[in-house]
Amino acid sequence: MAKDKEEKTKEEKGKTQRRKLAPVEHYHLWVACGGICSFEGCNKRLIMDTDGQLTNGGIVAHIIGHAKNSARHEYMEEYGYKQEELENISNLTLMCYGHSKLIDDSHTKHLYPPEKLFEMKKKHEDWVSSWSEFKKKKSIALIHKRLGGPLTDIEYQDGEAPYILLEAIENQVEFIDFSKEGWEEAKKINEDLYERFKEKVREREANVAEIFPLSPIPLLIHMGSLLTDTVPVSVYQLDREEGVWVSDHPLKHKEVELSFSADIKEEDELAVLVSVSGKVKMKSVMEVLGDNFDSISFEINDPGLKRVLYKQDVLYIQSQIKEEIEKLLQEQDYRKIHLFYAGPAGLAIELGRGVNPRMWGEVCLYQYNAREFPRYQYALSI
Ligand SMILES: [Zn+2]
Repeated sequence: MAKDKEEKTKEEKGKTQRRKLAPVEHYHLWVACGGICSFEGCNKRLIMDTDGQLTNGGIVAHIIGHAKNSARHEYMEEYGYKQEELENISNLTLMCYGHSKLIDDSHTKHLYPPEKLFEMKKKHEDWVSSWSEFKKKKSIALIHKRLGGPLTDIEYQDGEAPYILLEAIENQVEFIDFSKEGWEEAKKINEDLYERFKEKVREREANVAEIFPLSPIPLLIHMGSLLTDTVPVSVYQLDREEGVWVSDHPLKHKEVELSFSADIKEEDELAVLVSVSGKVKMKSVMEVLGDNFDSISFEINDPGLKRVLYKQDVLYIQSQIKEEIEKLLQEQDYRKIHLFYAGPAGLAIELGRGVNPRMWGEVCLYQYNAREFPRYQYALSI
């Protein structure tokens, strides 16, 4: 404060003209110092709260002083500053009142040459910026991409990964053997993959698992059924248009509605039809199952590709389907449940995660192929 006063008198004398900081420069200084005095070892909070009344105890101090006779002004040229550049934020540091006074006072300022203060500023700001990295959770990624070519890089929506990726466990070998043996083999590969993944999570003490799926649907539902909640799981979906993986988004709300209808004749087997990215036709289901089955059909409004990308919709659909099926299972006993699914990869994983093996019994999964007959081909059971 004494400093401000000093500056004022100088300004009044017309000797120096101090540039006023833009609001954004003030914000930057406050964010960079974390609201804590930048003087080494001080750690004093610059905003004090007394019963809800806030007091600003922060002083914006110059490392190289602005006025001709101020502290360290003589170092201006040596440090590559011009007079009008002394208000650059690189030359400013936020400190508590006591320390801003200490570094400028005539009998103590010699203890704080520019080199020492620039270093203090840098160390303090580095420490503050390390907070967010430090708080970020650590993840193990599971990349399950058995359709098309392999991924070389994971692009997240906002460019920045929400977690620190410790390691990725992956299977990116294209799935091409759609025979009975091929599916059985792929099921085993899934199980091995899951064991390796679980082991990594344990070994590296990860706090979260990130799943990046793009594979034939039966393999994803099966993979999901293996993924138990040892750590919280984030399931991503590829936004093909943008080429980025998306999951949660703070600004996204649930956008779809799910309706369902059931046809219950107390048969032995239940067909579950899930229409999200396209419509599962009852005719195609009858090609596989004949006429004698109960059915429950779920459909979002206006099914289509890209309709469901974000977690908010994925989890809503998953929980509705799980709830309705389990309600039905309270009343009916089924030998088998047949799942016919037209939807995105991430939702397939989540549906698998929702399968409760003790309650659901055998769940048969199908691969759709418009050129085959029947169009839904049995793949595997979980
Ligand atoms: Zn201080």
